[in-house]
Formats: sequence, C-alpha cells, structure tokens
Amino acid sequence: MVYWIHIARAIDRVTLHRDRCSEVPSSISGSDFWEGGWFDYPDKERALAAMEQAGTTEERKCALCKP
Ligand SMILES: [Zn+2]
Repeated sequence: MVYWIHIARAIDRVTLHRDRCSEVPSSISGSDFWEGGWFDYPDKERALAAMEQAGTTEERKCALCKP
C-alpha cells in the first residue's frame, strides 16, 4: 500500500490519500516539497511524518479514499 500526500501551499493545507485514489493524478511532475505537489510514501507512518513536516495549518484525510 502506497500513501500519497498532497501539499497545497496556496491554501495552506496537506491532504493524505491512499494509493489509487481517483484524486491522485496519473502523472506527477514538478513536485517540490517546499513548493507543494504530490508525494508518495511506502507506508502510512512516513506519510504522516511528512504531513507534519509540511508545516501547513490544515491537515486532512481524503474523504473519498479514507486513508
Ligand atoms: Zn483520496
């Protein structure tokens, strides 16, 4: 199981997704941890740690895939 986090700096929010969520783009390009974008992690613990490191005000879990 791969977990994805979506960092949206513009709206100060990070969202956790599961693998194959329909919201995860099929091709990821130009993601930069400090600029924002999509990042994949091999387990939930690492994804959650990355969410904390993102430093955004809001931390969400996707309502669609319920990670
Ligand atoms: Zn999702």
